[in-house]
This record gives sequence, structure tokens and C-alpha cells, in this order.
Amino acid sequence: MTTPVYLDYAATTPVDPRVAELMARHLTVDGIFANPASRSHMLGWQAEQAVENARRQVADLIGADPREIVWTSGATESDNLALIGFLRANRGRGRHLVTSCIEHKAVVDTAHALEAEGFEVTWLTPGRDGRVTADQLREAMRPDTVLVSLMAVNNELGVIHDLAALSEVAHAGGAVFHVDAAQAVGRLDLDVERLGIDLMSLSGHKAYGPKGIGALYVKRHPDIRLEALIHGGGHERGMRSGTLATHQIVGMGEAFALAGDEGEADQARITALRDRLLDGLADIGGIHRNTAVDVAVPNILNLAFEGVEGESLLMALRDIALSTGSACNSASVEPSYVLKGIGVPRALALASLRFSFGRFTSDSDIDRTLDALRHALSGLRRQAI
Ligand SMILES: *Cc1c(COP(=O)(O)O)cnc(C)c1O
Repeated sequence: MTTPVYLDYAATTPVDPRVAELMARHLTVDGIFANPASRSHMLGWQAEQAVENARRQVADLIGADPREIVWTSGATESDNLALIGFLRANRGRGRHLVTSCIEHKAVVDTAHALEAEGFEVTWLTPGRDGRVTADQLREAMRPDTVLVSLMAVNNELGVIHDLAALSEVAHAGGAVFHVDAAQAVGRLDLDVERLGIDLMSLSGHKAYGPKGIGALYVKRHPDIRLEALIHGGGHERGMRSGTLATHQIVGMGEAFALAGDEGEADQARITALRDRLLDGLADIGGIHRNTAVDVAVPNILNLAFEGVEGESLLMALRDIALSTGSACNSASVEPSYVLKGIGVPRALALASLRFSFGRFTSDSDIDRTLDALRHALSGLRRQAI
């Protein structure tokens, strides 16, 4: 058995060994394991210091003040806290949210839950390139719009939103601008001041940190009020109670510091890997790019393979860890709602795969993938004739 080639970095990244090593030093009795909220002994203070150091590392990457970072369990919780917490706290100002139909489920399903609670949602449909334009947003704004939520980088397509242009429109309409940036850390400059971001969801495990930890950036000037979803000891300035997970937090902090130091170099190397894959596929016919590569991060590439079914192709590519965006239910396979949302025809959407690369992807991983793809495609297409 050969080890599979891992090309599913957009689903999760492995933890960087430097991060894992630091995390291990925050678990056991000889390490920094105490409760960061224990104010009565030195072990507690040490843990608090470790947490605050990580808070600064995350804040530094996005040009924020450490006091603007709220720890959560991941970007899913951050999205929930941003949307539900903000809309409930600002009910008196308006009840209208604007978002898009190709957001991550953590935003889509939360917005649906808010609709059921009596809030109103406008669902923007992006263009074929996967981007919502500033003009589209301007048309959707209403006097009672209080929040706009759009993602930085789409997890299925890799496409990047023009956040500076979109935040300008949101602010001109008197709304607060929330960004799900789970896929953007280490890939884009995420300076919250320059981009005009008021609330931003972050995740540890999409950026070589551990799973189960995330953060929400909450702008302080002017102060953004959120209603807490989790009540308890009043941690995180009352916005998110619960004992802080020191080892997860130091892991996320270190991963974000590494993203700042090495993100650009990673992306340059990954661009070459993506181009190696595209060049290798150039002589095979019937391949469509769902990803508009000139407005996308280089580490995500979504391709449609004419004349095959994505599920069959995935089976034939047993040694390559990849994903389709499709959802299986008992009766049938449904195409990805994201591909549907940008207007990819059903048959092509069902024949699509997402390739996502990362820090530990090598040239030989790409070459193995190309060999496996050529083999699988010629086999499946021969059968189909
Ligand atoms: C992975 C992901 C999430 C969810 O993050 P978790 O930390 O796993 O909860 C949210 N949004 C986007 C865009 C993602 O890619």
C-alpha cells in the first residue's frame, strides 16, 4: 500500500510539526497546563500569558488589537456568533442581512436559522467567476440592512472577493461587514483596517494549526455589540464563556505567526505546483476550469471532467485524497450548491473535483496525481463510449 497523495488541504491541513511540538508543551504536568483563568497561582498566570501571547500572534497577522480577538471552537462557531450574536443584539436598528448563496454552510445554515427567527436575508448570486460585485451589493442594500456577510476565499473554488470594495458599499449603507476568512489565512493580506472589516471568522485547522479552535475578530472602535450564544463564567469579555483550551490556542497562535512569516513563500511554491498540474493536464481534452484562476488563491483548483461522473473518478483515484463538493443522500448524488450557485451545468458539476494543495505538497505528488488522472480518465471515458 502506498500512502495516498493528500490534495484536500481545503478540508483541513496537517498540523505543522513546529506547532504540534509547542502544543505538547501545554498539556502535561511538566508543562503549562493550568487553567488560564486561575488567578491565585503562578501556574495559572503562566497559562494566561501563553494565551495572551497567542492572542497577540493572531491579532498581529490581521492588524488588530489583541483585545479584539475572541477565542471560539472554530470558524463555524465564529460565523454563528457573528451573525446570530450581531443581529440579535442589534434588533432595534434593523433586521436585514445580505449574504451570498455560495458561502460556507456555517453561514448559509445560520442565515436560514435567522430567517426562521424573523430576520430577513437577501441571497446574492455571484457571477460565473464566483464573485459578488460591489454593484450587486449596492443594489441589495436597504435602509434596514444591518449586516453584510461575505467570504474572503471560497472553500470550493478558491476565488477571492474584493473585500475592500465590498466593505465600502456595506459601510456606505450603514451596515457592519463580516468576513469568513477561514480559507484566507496565509494566503491573502488580511489587514482589517485596510480592508474595512468589522467582524472576521478565523479557524486554526485550515492554516496548519489544530482542529477545534478558532477566533472571531470583533472591532472595538466603534464598538460592535454581540449577544453571547454560550453563557457561563463570562470569559472573553462575556462574548464566549468556557475554559480556554490553552494547547489549542497556543497552537493556533504559532500557526498564524508562521503564516505571517512563511505564507507568501508557501503561496509562491504552491502556484508553481498548481501550474505543473494545469500544464500536465493541457493535452487531455474535455477539462473545464470551474475556478477562475486569475482571481483565485493558487492552492485551490476546481476542475470539471467531461464525460465522467465525479464519484466514479474519485473511486478510480483511490490513491489521491480529494473531494467533490457534491452531497450524497440516500436516493441520489446532488451536485455542489456552490457550483450550482455559479451556474455550472448539472452534468459538469457532478463531474467536478477540488484539488487543494499546501505546505507539504511536492512536485512528485503532482506527478503521481497526473499519472493517476490520465489512467483513470482514459479508462472511464473508454467505458462511456
Ligand atoms: C472550514 C471552513 C469553515 C469551518 O471552520 P471550522 O473551524 O472547521 O468550524 C468555515 N468557513 C469556511 C470558508 C471554511 O473553509
